[in-house]
Amino acid sequence: MKPVIALVGRPNVGKSTLFNRLTRSRDALVADFPGLTRDRKYGEGRGASKPFIVIDTGGLEGGEEGIDFEMASQSLLAIEEADIVLLLVDGRAGLNPADEQIVEHLRKLGKPAFLIVNKVDGIDENVAVGDFYGLGIADIFAITASQGRGVSKMIEAVLAGYPEPLAEEERHEEGIRIAIAGRPNVGKSTLVNRMLGEERVVVFDMPGTTRDSVYIPFERHGKRYTLIDTAGIRRRGKTTQTVEKFSVVKSLTAIQDANVVVLVVDARDGIVEQDLHLLGYVLDAGRALVIALNKWDGMDLEQKKKIKSDIRRRFSFVDFAAIHFISALHGTGVGDLYQSIEKAYESAKRKLSTNQLTRILQDAVLDHAPPMINGRRIKMKYAHAGGQNPPVIVIHGKQTDKLPDHYKRYLEKTFRHVLKLEGTPVRIEMRADA
Ligand code: GDP
Ligand code: GDP
Repeated sequence: MKPVIALVGRPNVGKSTLFNRLTRSRDALVADFPGLTRDRKYGEGRGASKPFIVIDTGGLEGGEEGIDFEMASQSLLAIEEADIVLLLVDGRAGLNPADEQIVEHLRKLGKPAFLIVNKVDGIDENVAVGDFYGLGIADIFAITASQGRGVSKMIEAVLAGYPEPLAEEERHEEGIRIAIAGRPNVGKSTLVNRMLGEERVVVFDMPGTTRDSVYIPFERHGKRYTLIDTAGIRRRGKTTQTVEKFSVVKSLTAIQDANVVVLVVDARDGIVEQDLHLLGYVLDAGRALVIALNKWDGMDLEQKKKIKSDIRRRFSFVDFAAIHFISALHGTGVGDLYQSIEKAYESAKRKLSTNQLTRILQDAVLDHAPPMINGRRIKMKYAHAGGQNPPVIVIHGKQTDKLPDHYKRYLEKTFRHVLKLEGTPVRIEMRADA
């Protein structure tokens, strides 16, 4: 799984600036999905040689105690879950006692930390860095998060110790990787058990994996799958009734490593903020998606009607995803999930030819001409595939960088419709040729 990097430091040292730089296209995504509230703390690292996950821990003042400590606990949990900590300090403000307290805390946790001296623009870098030697952290990098200077060199050094991720081709024996995601108590572990407990499901005992591990390989009707469980399954056994803390990091890593995500929502609670955050991670990662509205048993007609209209409205931006109304407890509708999982996977991994894509593009342009910019029409010449899971469609032409969002959405809808792509987000990328 991808390394998790936590950004730690006093308020105002530049954590969120660095976070945005490391995760980049987040704002573009907000534009792609109007109506989606986004969690600005957790993101997928982009633009480096290896994938990673970044957490912005928010403001940590140093020696939090009592109530302050509780309030900082989410940050502290994030630090515990991280593989590497980047301690940011303000190169202009110089060393602050709070920086020392944070270092002390990190040392207690035994977390490998890099010291990142930010805001070195317009000041003597060596002098700025020298001020922080006393913190006793050997790996020091000077950056300007706002301009991006030094950031790429720093992140490559941070990731240097981590192995290259396995290529998709090397993982074929895992079959479709399915992550079961959802907030606490929606019924994830009940669903996992139900899916594995189905008749004719064979769970493999592979070396290094057990029924209780996060990755559970199994076979159903002769087909291979791997369930990625977000820790819920640990509670299966009668002896281990410990309820685990909900871990955003575990959800994130599971979502990112999956081919298809089954997002479990509690029909009785309706859709809440945390469901939308999780959905945001799924879209951010570009994963194929199946929505399971669980606990459908025992709801009366009126309730069912209400949640159905609610979900259509709140999830309108993911209208590509199949919605299943299930009862994990009784098993109702659980088997049907596989059909949508298969369909979503097939769509997400489909090989799309340049010929086919270009033809669809040309027809779409004939049906609806793109707008004029400065008296000249935007020209789109050809399209080709740029990736799978999610499918990326790259469009070449003149002035395509000026194409308005609504036209991009029209193109996306057209590709999706003609190609019958179901259950997966589709990314359209524009290339402006000279
Ligand atoms: P956070 O509270 O640690 O998340 O800090 P922010 O990212 O919100 O940044 C605090 C302030 O520092 C903002 O006004 C940023 O524009 C500014 N800032 C961030 N990085 C740099 C930098 O590299 N150079 C300068 N001069 N200012 C920066
Ligand atoms: P998790 O935290 O998401 O893994 O949720 P659990 O699988 O532990 O389920 C939380 C609670 O919801 C348990 O008491 C389950 O028995 C109950 N539950 C799960 N699925 C259903 C369902 O389909 N119907 C009903 N009525 N209860 C369910």
